[in-house]
Amino acid sequence: MTVLPPAATQNGSLGQTNPLLSGWSPPDETPPFAAIRPEHFKPAFDCAMADHLVEIEAIATSPDAPSFANTIVALERSGRMLEQVSAVFHALAGAHTNEALMAIEREMSPLLAAHRNRIHLHDGLYARIKELWDTRDGLGLMPEAARVLERYDVTFRRAGAGLPAEAKGRIAAIGERLAALGTAFSQNVLADEQAYLLVLDGDKDLAGLSESVRAAARAAATERGIPDKHAITLARSSVELFLRSSERRDLREKAYEAWIARGNGGGATDNKAIIAETVALRAERARLLGYPTFAHYRLDDAMAKTPQAVEALLERVWPRARARAMADRDALQELIRQEGGNFDLAAWDWRYYAEKLRKARCDIDAAEIAPYLTLDNMIAAAFDTAHRLFGLAFRERCDVPVWHPDVRVWEVSGPAGQFLGLFFGDYFARSAKRSGAWMTMLRTQHKLDGEVRPLIINVMNFAKADDGEPTLLSFDDARTLFHEFGHGLHGLMSDVTYPMISCTRVATDFVELPSQLYEHWLEQPEVLRRFALHYRTGEPMPEDLLRRLLAARTFDQGFATVEYTASALVDLAFHQAAEAEKIDPAAFEADVLARIGMPAEIGMRHRSPHFLHVFAGSGYAAGYYSYMWSEVLDADAFEAFRETGDVFDPATAARLRSDILAAGGSRDPGEAYRAFRGQLPTADALLRKRGFAEAVAG
Ligand SMILES: [Zn+2]
Repeated sequence: MTVLPPAATQNGSLGQTNPLLSGWSPPDETPPFAAIRPEHFKPAFDCAMADHLVEIEAIATSPDAPSFANTIVALERSGRMLEQVSAVFHALAGAHTNEALMAIEREMSPLLAAHRNRIHLHDGLYARIKELWDTRDGLGLMPEAARVLERYDVTFRRAGAGLPAEAKGRIAAIGERLAALGTAFSQNVLADEQAYLLVLDGDKDLAGLSESVRAAARAAATERGIPDKHAITLARSSVELFLRSSERRDLREKAYEAWIARGNGGGATDNKAIIAETVALRAERARLLGYPTFAHYRLDDAMAKTPQAVEALLERVWPRARARAMADRDALQELIRQEGGNFDLAAWDWRYYAEKLRKARCDIDAAEIAPYLTLDNMIAAAFDTAHRLFGLAFRERCDVPVWHPDVRVWEVSGPAGQFLGLFFGDYFARSAKRSGAWMTMLRTQHKLDGEVRPLIINVMNFAKADDGEPTLLSFDDARTLFHEFGHGLHGLMSDVTYPMISCTRVATDFVELPSQLYEHWLEQPEVLRRFALHYRTGEPMPEDLLRRLLAARTFDQGFATVEYTASALVDLAFHQAAEAEKIDPAAFEADVLARIGMPAEIGMRHRSPHFLHVFAGSGYAAGYYSYMWSEVLDADAFEAFRETGDVFDPATAARLRSDILAAGGSRDPGEAYRAFRGQLPTADALLRKRGFAEAVAG
């Protein structure tokens, strides 16, 4: 193993010129974004990785017998610089990228994977961890420390530690290749999104679009350098708004076809070969580690534990959702007939006619809602909910360096006024931003050497209004804002000692519990009455509209559940395939959809060639079901509040804080949930929430 000179000397010369390696800006110790340039990353990564390896060697070759302090705690203290550089890099690569950063991402992702392999497959290091694990009962560890030791043992074993040298070598090579494939996948999707723009020319092209949709389309055109025009991009919020309201069937088809073709267009940005290779390599790695398929490997360390448990849930929901969707399809087709249309409902028609059906059935119009949902008021609503539940307070800070002028920062404090962390909100769609919405961290919480508080980021892709106008959200957008803020609270309220288990470092099928649970408060009349105020008049949403909005909650849940569950089933199928080496992704996806009886009029929420959750890194690979698994928990968890008669019940909120939000990964997820609720839930509350409850009785 080549080891560069110790970091102290390296930092001495580089730190003066490289802002990534010098200490971060006081008083908050946040990254000095204005000073960071792409060329700083490569030397900073090199230096930080070398630094980390020196630390690792010192731990692994220590002459002292392994102890929790000289091995696990030392590992927890190691690699700080690398974590810092990586956090800044990944924040920028997601929310504010450019050609230079994308090139570094391609270069660094296999190198970072190789770096992780050198640690996880280090024989001397694993021998010390294993010795501690084998003698754990005699170590006298406190519960949190015991959990951290367990997580180290599990993490190393799952990475291939302890296997014969040949298997380890192959696992390392697979890991590096997968990292490169994941980066390429993600960059291809972004490239396809950046390359496309549907320019709307003249009034005819704008037919059906409300003033707020037009404003968003003007902003999108301006952002792409064609001011005074209107344009639709492939960002979900842009294209979905258009599909919902455009009267132009030909343009809807155009936009829809471009949207679902991301990563699937042939040529340099086509992702199908990447999918085939990724699936094959994941399967091979799983077999080397002793699992029959990647899904078995993945789920073994999740709350679900087995593919069978996941299938049982998805298969309970699927027929009910599909039956509802088929009935809705017939109603939409009837609507077309009544209007004199002589065509079959197609996937690019669903949202448009569903919107009409919503108006007819629930007497509700998306254009009627948006003027009451300003971005600022929805942020205020999310903050106020956190205040009522947990006593948190938010103060906007304009002096903290950010990566784009639209990013806002708040200082968050707890009920006793104690500093909890900084919260960064980056809300608007930009072409340099990956699509979707996510939460990430610039720094994680821990107490290893005194209290270190987290720096939390929420990134969204809302269509920005014209200059000087307030940005208006759809109800779905507002729900996304609450969702990501729920993840944010999981980070901000974390209160554990060890970084390994802090904040959102929990099982993937548990991590959506705080976020999806938080969405419930957006739907409370008392929250909407205070914060859903008309952007011009300041008047609250009329009671009648509020009632209709909330009554419409389960409208089109057949569609929403079908598009999601289809993606979850396809993900699971890819990672359970018997002959993973021979997969033709397009044919495989089509086969799965045919087998489950996917309605032709509904597209998957994410088709495989742009399924970033699953193929841009392994984050949600064989794990897209997690949202529904967590929904079983969140539907049941919110009932815990409801049962008290007060959705802000202080005692229930206190348990949510201590057992879930503050606890991070310090407990097994099932155990943490039982502590909060007394027992594990069934899917009944989820089926009720989605409006499929009448089918449950049968
Ligand atoms: Zn989430």
